[in-house]
Amino acid sequence: MRTPMANAGQFTRPALVPQATAVLRPYGSFSSSLVHSRLTQRQGYCGLGPDYCNSPDCQLDYGPACDGNKIPSGANTSSIPRPALGSVPYGGVGIYACTVPGTVALTYDDGPYIYTSYVLDVFKYYRSKATFFVTAINNGKGEIDDPSTIYPPIIRRMLAEGHQIASHTWSHQDLTKITPTQRRDQMIKNEMALRNILGFFPTYMRPPYSNCDAQSGCQADMVSLGYHIVGSLLECFYFQSESNTTQLKTYFDLDTNDYNLDSPNLIQQAKNNFANGIQGNATTSDHLEIGHDIHQQTAYNLTQYMLSTLIDAGYKAVTVGECLGDPQVNWYRDSSGNGASISDTPSSVAATTATVSPTAAKPVTTDATCGPANGFTCQGSPYG
Ligand SMILES: [Zn+2]
Repeated sequence: MRTPMANAGQFTRPALVPQATAVLRPYGSFSSSLVHSRLTQRQGYCGLGPDYCNSPDCQLDYGPACDGNKIPSGANTSSIPRPALGSVPYGGVGIYACTVPGTVALTYDDGPYIYTSYVLDVFKYYRSKATFFVTAINNGKGEIDDPSTIYPPIIRRMLAEGHQIASHTWSHQDLTKITPTQRRDQMIKNEMALRNILGFFPTYMRPPYSNCDAQSGCQADMVSLGYHIVGSLLECFYFQSESNTTQLKTYFDLDTNDYNLDSPNLIQQAKNNFANGIQGNATTSDHLEIGHDIHQQTAYNLTQYMLSTLIDAGYKAVTVGECLGDPQVNWYRDSSGNGASISDTPSSVAATTATVSPTAAKPVTTDATCGPANGFTCQGSPYG
């Protein structure tokens, strides 16, 4: 049965949150003013605000004011042994496609954020799974393992509901443009933060800006740290534009370009990109798609479309590990370096996993489609 539950009341309807107090960097769009800020910053001027204090815009070399220099609590994970788990390749040029026919791996980078709970609600409704490439302290959102933030229960819910949690570094730095020590810290500190939430940390990662080449040592570092590199397309485009557009890569299988289309008037293009991307025989094809849960239209509009479309086409939405045929126990590593899964979650963590429960209201439409058939309501939307 391809169509999931007919009862749209299963949807959680979290409060539609206003834009974050922090300034969200439009990773996907080029901005001369941002570049100017960055260049000014590189010349060593001091200041307040996201350009100076919030990763990834602030520069690690400018000291403790940059939140990327924070260190999560608890034991450092750097001495944990990292034997290869399973048969999926580690490091190297990375993974850019699934291998299990009939699967689509929908992936979300840069979160969690204020929209992520809603994304989880949609996946729950469609009984589908995603992979979240988590960044711990980007965009001024606070530290993901800070219990005063909304993030620890969201990440535990991802695990409890069968999604895959992977690393997108500590503070979203370009791993080829920082020192080897800083690069290692980017991975280790994200491990510590996720360990503080889950009791273990991921073996899959996606490099910010799609940058993890051999020349910088990044690919070899990911091998020694025990990470599978999952590629993506042109992520966070403007940063690369600033440095060298000729280096832009085409690491993609299916890209919706969602980060450049985050408005009600533009998101249809992302939907079209997705629909075109999954054309083909669902019994023999598979797809690895990238999106970003820090964007409202991706969460409140595109996600539901992608799931309903791929299911109607005969595909199944699974995690990256599943689309590669890698058993779940290989997706995470415990404090001994062995594989770990949800059953290895400490009881103190598991006890809080169930604290995030859905409410019953339908989500408010973001594109004027509403009614029982699609599970959205126009009430409270700009469409009346
Ligand atoms: Zn990113």
